[in-house]
Amino acid sequence: MTTSVLDPTSELERATRAAETVTDPEMPMLTLRDLGVLRDVALTSGGQLVVTITPTYSGCPAMATMRDDLTYRLREAGFGDVAVRTVLEPAWSTDWITEDGRRKLAEHGISPPGPAVHREGPVPLTLVVPRRQVSCPQCGSANTELTSEFGATACKALYRCVDCREPFDHVKEI
Ligand SMILES: [Zn+2]
Repeated sequence: MTTSVLDPTSELERATRAAETVTDPEMPMLTLRDLGVLRDVALTSGGQLVVTITPTYSGCPAMATMRDDLTYRLREAGFGDVAVRTVLEPAWSTDWITEDGRRKLAEHGISPPGPAVHREGPVPLTLVVPRRQVSCPQCGSANTELTSEFGATACKALYRCVDCREPFDHVKEI
């Protein structure tokens, strides 16, 4: 066993960098940092690494995978004692997706979410699909139509470009 004293600041930086490389299971082009899911990385005085995440879509099955991936990646980076904490408040919104994240989505042919609709009070129960201004990630045309409110995953809607005829996913605003 070595007796080298680890600098907690650089250790924390190293842990943060490792945590930031973990990607979203459903949208693997995005890291948890791009998504805004990774809220905090902290090192306790006892040497435990505490990672705080906020789930995206409630009941998203990807959360368990994210937690496992974070723990695995950090163990791999040499952090033996890792706790992943989930914080529900404030609730995650697609507004938290970074500019980098939106650019990466578009580069992968996925239409990034527009501004989230902020509601006060209870969410109205409605069967009407929200109207969005969605432009085609392939050709940029605003002439698009909704094919299905549920695409490859529940968090995406399926659209089609009327001009270039390409189907594409749109990340729903929440
Ligand atoms: Zn198009």
